Amino acid sequence: MHLVMIGGSDAGISAALRARELEPSADVTVVVADAYPNFSICGIPYYVSGEVAHWRNLAHRTVADLEATGMALRLDTTAQRIDVPGRKLQVTAANGRDELISYDKLVIGTGAVPVQPPIAGLTGPGALGPDDGVHVLHTMSDTFAVMRTLQETSAASAVIIGAGYVGLEMADALIARGLSVTQIEQLPEVLATVDADLGTLARAELAAQGVEVLTRTTARQISKTSAPSPARLRVQAQTASGEAVERAADMVLVVTGVRPDTGLAAAARARLDARGAIRVDPAMRTGLPDVLAAGDCVVTHHRLLGQTYLPLGTTAHKQGRVAGENALGGNRQFAGSLGTQVVKIFDQVAARTGLRHDEAMAAGFDPITVQSEADDHKAYYPASHRITMRVTGDRATGRLLGMQLFGHKHAEIAKRIDIAATAIFHAMTVEDMSDLDLSYTPPLGSPWEAVQMGAQAWDREVQRLSR
Ligand SMILES: Cc1cc2nc3c(=O)[nH]c(=O)nc-3n(C[C@H](O)[C@H](O)[C@H](O)COP(=O)(O)OP(=O)(O)OC[C@H]3O[C@@H](n4cnc5c(N)ncnc54)[C@H](O)[C@@H]3O)c2cc1C
Repeated sequence: MHLVMIGGSDAGISAALRARELEPSADVTVVVADAYPNFSICGIPYYVSGEVAHWRNLAHRTVADLEATGMALRLDTTAQRIDVPGRKLQVTAANGRDELISYDKLVIGTGAVPVQPPIAGLTGPGALGPDDGVHVLHTMSDTFAVMRTLQETSAASAVIIGAGYVGLEMADALIARGLSVTQIEQLPEVLATVDADLGTLARAELAAQGVEVLTRTTARQISKTSAPSPARLRVQAQTASGEAVERAADMVLVVTGVRPDTGLAAAARARLDARGAIRVDPAMRTGLPDVLAAGDCVVTHHRLLGQTYLPLGTTAHKQGRVAGENALGGNRQFAGSLGTQVVKIFDQVAARTGLRHDEAMAAGFDPITVQSEADDHKAYYPASHRITMRVTGDRATGRLLGMQLFGHKHAEIAKRIDIAATAIFHAMTVEDMSDLDLSYTPPLGSPWEAVQMGAQAWDREVQRLSR
């Protein structure tokens, strides 16, 4: 049995590890386009900031660790074509030669690539790139290019186009390095993964830390400046009301999301959804004989929404594990995502799970969303912090549909959102969450855990509305 995984990031490596764990005699080969298998790209902002001292520290496992599990790594090797009936993968190997690798089962884990928004100077002939100080951020090579710009040009200013979670993490990282940072976002508020009420709090933290935030502003053009401009790049943008905005910077980072990287799968006639993600069933089967797929290149089965696209490292790990098991003949199913995510923005943290209010409405629920606040631990014990919570529940059934949290980085926001994620996973009501037997000691919590106080605030509001 020869299993071949394409892709050496979260999905491909998880599949390979699971297969080797279940069947130590399985012959497993992982084909990786670059030389950085199993690197935590989620950690890139913390290497850029200097908090992680060396890029090698971002490796979840070293090449030696991976090889010690018994998998074979084909690094700097790019998969070019899948011969589905012949069960062969054509690759261009590190030496530049083309080769055919036979497989019994194939797992596609080609992931995603950064979206290139329609900004003049970013795409097309004469486009500016890393050597000019214009960057995207997804791979270790992208990271090295960013570091070259920062170190070799002593960059003092940056424009970040995009204020999603990666954009916010990078604003934090570049401020930590002493740059002046402008963040440009076309939506009305930063961090669109949470409701605008919490996005406003994220923006306040950015502003408090010195980031200039321009929302409702769309970048139109990136160009080089000429002397005597102190900075080498110029970003021209337009506000929603049509006003022209211009900023000069030494570096421009374009972080406006990702799209599935599925050219290889499409050429093999895998079925794709409208976004170009590979359609898989919950067992991660593509419908092509002996071909599975996982991670950012596939559609996401969501426990409340059905099929969507929600690329996250957590999901890629789980899907990869399922694909690895099923490649061996297993019948594991991916249990579904809730889009649970968390981001640190300087000293604050935003997190969400399940559905935001508008998503719940669009999905056909009758949601009520209630915002409230609670202390992370008893206020009489030093260093307590207020947590802002938004609980979304279905009016008719009381079912918990979503939760969003915002609070200090020491307020255990991530683990608190996981309480709600667990509750939603098990289709609990808001009231059920309030009934959970959770821990308490004054330095760490309250007799009613904060998220339970959020649940009770929701319940009070529903009572009030029904009166
Ligand atoms: C800066 C940043 C921060 C992030 N932070 C978080 C976070 O905090 N939490 C979270 O859950 N997620 C986070 N993510 C998202 C997360 O990293 C991705 O969801 C995850 O990496 C997806 O894994 P993947 O294996 O599907 O794909 P990718 O990571 O995109 O990897 C694709 C792999 O396929 C290889 N490949 C592609 N084409 C070929 C080919 N033709 N031949 C051979 N190999 C090929 C690539 O070299 C790579 O190894 C972050 C992403 C970024 C960029």
